[in-house]
This record gives sequence, structure tokens and C-alpha cells, in this order.
Amino acid sequence: MTPAPEHAAPRSLMAQLDTQPRVRAFLERAIASGRASHAYLFLGAPGSGKLDAAWALAQAIICDEGGCGACDACVRVARHTHPDVHYLAPESVTGYLIAQTRDLIDDVALAPIRARSKVYIVDRAEQLKADSANALLKTLEEPPQGVTFILLGTSAETILPTIVSRCQCVPFRMIAPEDAARAVERTCGAPLERCRMAVAVAGSPTRAVAFLKSASRQDARRRMLRAIDALPHADNLDILDAAKELVVAVKAPLDEVKSTQEAVLAENADFLSRGALKQLEDRNKRELNARERSGIMEVLASARSLLRDVLATLEGVPGGIVNEDAADIVERLAHATGPVGALAAVEAVSAAERAIARNVTPQLTFEVMLFDIRKALLCP
Ligand SMILES: [Zn+2]
Repeated sequence: MTPAPEHAAPRSLMAQLDTQPRVRAFLERAIASGRASHAYLFLGAPGSGKLDAAWALAQAIICDEGGCGACDACVRVARHTHPDVHYLAPESVTGYLIAQTRDLIDDVALAPIRARSKVYIVDRAEQLKADSANALLKTLEEPPQGVTFILLGTSAETILPTIVSRCQCVPFRMIAPEDAARAVERTCGAPLERCRMAVAVAGSPTRAVAFLKSASRQDARRRMLRAIDALPHADNLDILDAAKELVVAVKAPLDEVKSTQEAVLAENADFLSRGALKQLEDRNKRELNARERSGIMEVLASARSLLRDVLATLEGVPGGIVNEDAADIVERLAHATGPVGALAAVEAVSAAERAIARNVTPQLTFEVMLFDIRKALLCP
């Protein structure tokens, strides 16, 4: 198969789901027959592409052509800036807040802003606990006309049965990283080794494609790699500066989201009620927080992938490294440390991911992680 040229015609998100052909065929049939369910539950392990599929289905529902990939609505959904496609993730460490589900139920009752329908993507549905879930059940069973819910979870056993029974379950199979990389290659035509790196950093094929298109996200990764590269010779002030720079770099990709949000607010200021505007503003704030968090997770994944390459090099694992564009950094770090140090450095990244999940500030998380990685790399 010849790779698509760099500036190929835009493809719909559904067409990009070629790592999950059965799911894609199922969803395409449902859309084409006009008998799409009003509540889906996508089930699969992390990395199986559930979230990509959720955005693809949202695009197919919102677009008048069933997800052409090229119209204004499709572009907005692909950029996650369509005001009628809502993405939700738990806002507390213990799961969804009751206030979150209440806001959701209120929002469901409002008319769509741009499209004829609305889509709610509810990530990590296992974190809908009894109290917050119960409020949602009636809405989930009989949502207003034109509203579709897409819930995501790892397995039906971990989700409340009252939720599972109200949804159409769609199982996802696990995708091997190499298959994911090849899917990215087919979509954007980038060299396979860049696609491998993008999958390791971004986590799924669709996100990897977006990562390869985003100069600012790639810049954030490069800053993280440079910061780690410098660690064996960095003093404390260097580390504090590097952490500060990383926070700025992670926030840079949010500028586009912010300006789109402001444009949507301005367009709708005249005809939305004050309450509806307030809700839109609140949702924008949450969206920005979620985006910032996924940006942080992405630079942490970059750090993890680099340090794994160092470990693989030290242990002589066959098959080469993932970050081929940073082979010089991997080589330098492999010289500076041993397998024990590299392993401890990877553990410092895991600790940072846990800190972010506990709402520790990005600045402090990066500082602690870089100090810990330096300590790990320098230990004999
Ligand atoms: Zn379209």
C-alpha cells in the first residue's frame, strides 16, 4: 500500500479507525441505517482506541453527511471544539462528582448550539459511582431527541449494571503498538519510525496523527527530552527553570482552543440565556483543564518512552528504540547511567503521573520528577 501524501484530502475520523475494522463496520451500519442507539458503551483496554472511536462516531452523528471529514462541523469535531460534542472525565480523584452529573443532566435538556444533535462522551464510566450514576439513569434511558451518549470503560464488570443494561455495548480488541503505528502511517504518510514515536507519546492512532500535526505538542515533547538529556549535568536552578519551561510548553497548544471557545461564546452571546452562557463558560473551563491535563500526560509519556529506550539500550533488547529522532540523547543517557538507574528513572515518571491524578500542580510535579530522575540517573 502506498502511503498517503502529506496533504491528502481530509479523511473522516471513522475512516481512520482501521485498527478496529469490526467496530467501524458496526458503527457505519448503525449510522447508515438511521438506527443508531442513543447510548453506547465502548469497552476495551487502554490503547484500544475507544476514545478515537467515540470522536469518530460523534463526527458521523453531528455532520449532515454522516461524517464527511471536510465540512465545518467535521473539522470542529476533529479539533474537539464543536460546542455540541461534550467530553466528560471524572473531576475528582474518587470519580465523577454529583455536581458534574447534575450539570450534565441540565445541559442535556438544552437545545444544540450549532448542529441538529448533541453527543456526550463520558470517559472512564467505571468512575460513575452509585450516587452520581443514579441521577443519570433516567436521562441515559430516555435522552431527549437527538442526544447520544457514548460511555467508555475497560470492562462491563467494573461498571454499574444499571448503566450497562441501558447501553448498547461495543467491545474493542487490544491493538499492538506496531499495528497502531502502521495505521498512523497510512493516515498521515509520516515515516514509520515517527509514527511509532507518536503512538508511544499520544497513546492512540488518532491522537498520534493529531500530535504529528501539532508543532506545539511536538515542541513540548522536545523540551521534555532536552530537560532529561541535561539532567546528569544540571544544578538545582537548572531543574527549576526546566520545570517552569515545561509548564509553559504544555500550555501553548491550549491557545487555539481558547480562541475557538471565545469565538463560539461571542457568536452565541446574543441569543443564549444568561444561564446557558454560564454553562457554556463552565464547560469551556473544564475543557481547558482536561486539555491541559492530557498535555501533561503526553509530555510525561514522552519522558517514559525516552527512559524506556535508555533501559532497552542498556539491556540490549533487540528491536531498536522508539525515539529514533532522539537516538543521540538515548545514547548519552545510556552512557551516564546503568539499568538500575534507568529503571528508577522510569519509576519517577510513574510517580509523576500519580501526582497529576492527585491534582498536584504541574510545576511541582515536573520539579519533583526531574530531581528524582537526576538522582536515579546518577546512582551507580
Ligand atoms: Zn462533515
